[in-house]
Amino acid sequence: MTAHTWRNWSGTVTAHPVRVLAPRDEGEVADAVRHAAETGSRIRVVGAGHSFTPAAATDGILLHLDHLDAVEHTGTPAPDGSRLVQVGAGIRLRALCRELAQRGLAMENMGDIDAQSLAGAISTGTHGTGARLGGLATQVRGLRVVTADGQVREVGPESPDGGASLFELARLGLGTAGVLTAVTLRCVPAFTLTATETPKRLDHVLESLDDLVAADHFEFYWFPHTELALTKTNTRGSSAPPLPPARRFLEDEVISNGLFEVTNRIATAAPSLTPHLNRLASRALSTRRYTATSHEVFVSPRRVRFTEMEYAIPAEAVVPALREIQQWLHRSGENVPFPIEVRFAAADQVWLSTAYGRPTAYVAVHQYHRLPHARYFRAVEAIMRGYDGRPHWGKLHRRRASDLATTYPRWADVQRVRAAVGPWLFGNEYTDHVLGRLDR
Ligand SMILES: Cc1cc2nc3c(=O)[nH]c(=O)nc-3n(C[C@H](O)[C@H](O)[C@H](O)COP(=O)(O)OP(=O)(O)OC[C@H]3O[C@@H](n4cnc5c(N)ncnc54)[C@H](O)[C@@H]3O)c2cc1C
Repeated sequence: MTAHTWRNWSGTVTAHPVRVLAPRDEGEVADAVRHAAETGSRIRVVGAGHSFTPAAATDGILLHLDHLDAVEHTGTPAPDGSRLVQVGAGIRLRALCRELAQRGLAMENMGDIDAQSLAGAISTGTHGTGARLGGLATQVRGLRVVTADGQVREVGPESPDGGASLFELARLGLGTAGVLTAVTLRCVPAFTLTATETPKRLDHVLESLDDLVAADHFEFYWFPHTELALTKTNTRGSSAPPLPPARRFLEDEVISNGLFEVTNRIATAAPSLTPHLNRLASRALSTRRYTATSHEVFVSPRRVRFTEMEYAIPAEAVVPALREIQQWLHRSGENVPFPIEVRFAAADQVWLSTAYGRPTAYVAVHQYHRLPHARYFRAVEAIMRGYDGRPHWGKLHRRRASDLATTYPRWADVQRVRAAVGPWLFGNEYTDHVLGRLDR
């Protein structure tokens, strides 16, 4: 045991780093990396600790980059109004969105929370929804990375001398390329979204999926043991009044969090009530339509603790995959009070992106933190593997490098770059498992 104990947000991971450091600038990051290399210790950065997997865990040196959170440079506008913004890698997404808004800018797409650090979010392939848009790593145009020799390298997609390959692993590689100290993001002019949230029958959603997914951002939450789904369609532009603050508080805090915590506690104590509770939960959420800034619409408060597994599958497989999950839930009688979330993304070219090379549907299964999740997640994982599923790097799964290699066409390139940058120093048990352990 050491003096330090670190836990992730969901409580699924505990680690005991030998040292915890919070460097104040890039120079101190480089010193920490050199010190780790000299003393034979591994070194990991933790962002907001929001990965469900032990992605950030280490018994070596743990770095917090909270001091590296400044906007360093805002580029000139491109013809489409987008601008490149260089920012400290430790910045939290909430603070980043605030900084961008002050400059009339926004992130093109986001996931459903903004608590993550920018570097942590891109390193695990964090994504939102939108069939024409990629995950956060696709918004990255450049990086500053402290590599194993303590040098700072500035890399981008066109960098010479192996820099472009280093960029690919660094922008989505679980921190194995080095410590990211700054990120250059392509940001778009600030925009509003009109959100339309409507409960629908699952059959209806699945039958009209092609039309629904054509929206700028579409997702749905299916409540297990019921035929009901809550659909969320976000369209760019303003065409509805803002949500009155009292209604937002009632629906987002009281119903989606407060009441939801209560229904989950009841489901834990009395599993047979789960189908009734899910029906109640899905009906408590009524139709609503409102316009707000993109950031406000993308993000929702998530106060009920849960565990999660999420799989990326080819978009065309989503209906049969959901039907298989539905059949398994029916057969097994598993008690699942948490909805299943379904989102979409465009194909991209980021080597370790779960959407690499194929239009993608994301199927996320959640379980209340007081309920067992192992059997449920194992069953869904087996179904997802049948569709060549790729697990989210930051969410629970049981895959290993040996069976992930075949689903990532650029796996050999990943290993080549890892071998060149020194895979041991920046790794941990999790990266050894999922990317393969390479010797020092
Ligand atoms: C409530 C909740 C909601 C979520 N919603 C979504 C969602 O909508 N979409 C989605 O895709 N995911 C979602 N996630 C998952 C989450 O976005 C990812 O797990 C993300 O990695 C968490 O960011 P973090 O800052 O907490 O990173 P951490 O978990 O702290 O770290 C993640 C990885 O990044 C590495 N890392 C962090 N900083 C650096 C750095 N500076 N240099 C090098 N490596 C670094 C760490 O070592 C680790 O490997 C959600 C998670 C939770 C708990």
